[in-house]
Amino acid sequence: MKALFFEQHGNISNLKTGELDNPSPGPGQVMVRVHSAALNRLDLWVMEGWKGLNLEMPHIPGADGAGEIAALGDGVNGLSPGDRVVINANLSCGSCRACLAGQDNMCRDWHLLGETVRGTCAELVCVPADNVLQIPEEFSFREAAASSLVFLTAWHSLITRANLQPGEKVLLIGASGGVNTASIQIAKLAGAQVFVVGSSPEKLELAASLGADVFIDRSIEESWSRHVYRLTNKQGVDIVVDNIGTDTFPSSLRTLRKGGRLLTVGNTSGPVLELDNRFIFGKHLSILGSTMGTKEDFYQVMQLLFQGKLKPVLDLDFLLENAQQAYTRLAQGQQMGKITLEIS
Ligand code: ZN
Repeated sequence: MKALFFEQHGNISNLKTGELDNPSPGPGQVMVRVHSAALNRLDLWVMEGWKGLNLEMPHIPGADGAGEIAALGDGVNGLSPGDRVVINANLSCGSCRACLAGQDNMCRDWHLLGETVRGTCAELVCVPADNVLQIPEEFSFREAAASSLVFLTAWHSLITRANLQPGEKVLLIGASGGVNTASIQIAKLAGAQVFVVGSSPEKLELAASLGADVFIDRSIEESWSRHVYRLTNKQGVDIVVDNIGTDTFPSSLRTLRKGGRLLTVGNTSGPVLELDNRFIFGKHLSILGSTMGTKEDFYQVMQLLFQGKLKPVLDLDFLLENAQQAYTRLAQGQQMGKITLEIS
């Protein structure tokens, strides 16, 4: 099969497109002929590698993908070759305490497709049958690939973890990335008022087109937390979604109202945080960690996408052979929404 892969950790220049052996589906698995895959920042970190990450080389990146069922492993029912499906990248054991409680993203043997196991940037990929969901005829493979991980992540954090309620004020740091564009739409659908901190007028325009209500351009407004405080009558917001970490955590805590929730969903600027504890106990704040989502979250949010109530924001589509260009665009943060790869 044709695949995108790297044979050693390093930068984007290590990525190659070529032929690798076809996988074969094990018991309970399906083999998917991938038509479209989508890129995530995580792919760049996996390329660089980290201490303790021991991948079988060559490694195929990619968490997101959609295509057709090509073959079924033993014991798979309810799916047939040719079925159009989207892949859920969260792999779980199905038998541990968390899995049995429906919290499979907290599985003790949790893996993410494209991170610790071979991913979707190839013509064929094998995943457990529970990790695919059939998509309607009118929903494109590209839209499906661009939707799955970011909408799952945004849904789990805002709805399942933070229990977002109608009328609440949500502040998102970032306007144009995959998860933020999903979060804006989910928060609006839930009846919230959405504040967005963005780095440029173009990115805030995209946020506006998705329904966000209040815009803070951090290239103009240096202290966005003070600005939001003023905009909310010195009350603050109910929820801040922070995926930046080191650089923004102090401002995020300041921006919350009494009793507010800080959703920490990543740390693109670094993992070590400075906390002024007076904010946390003095304002009765809750800090909620969230990553990825459960199978139930995936099912719920994908139904809303299929119904057209949520829409993936599509950036450029690249041929698999031009994946280096696609990843360079991602690394430079030029994208508005999801970058996708056309595979077959
Ligand atoms: Zn498990």
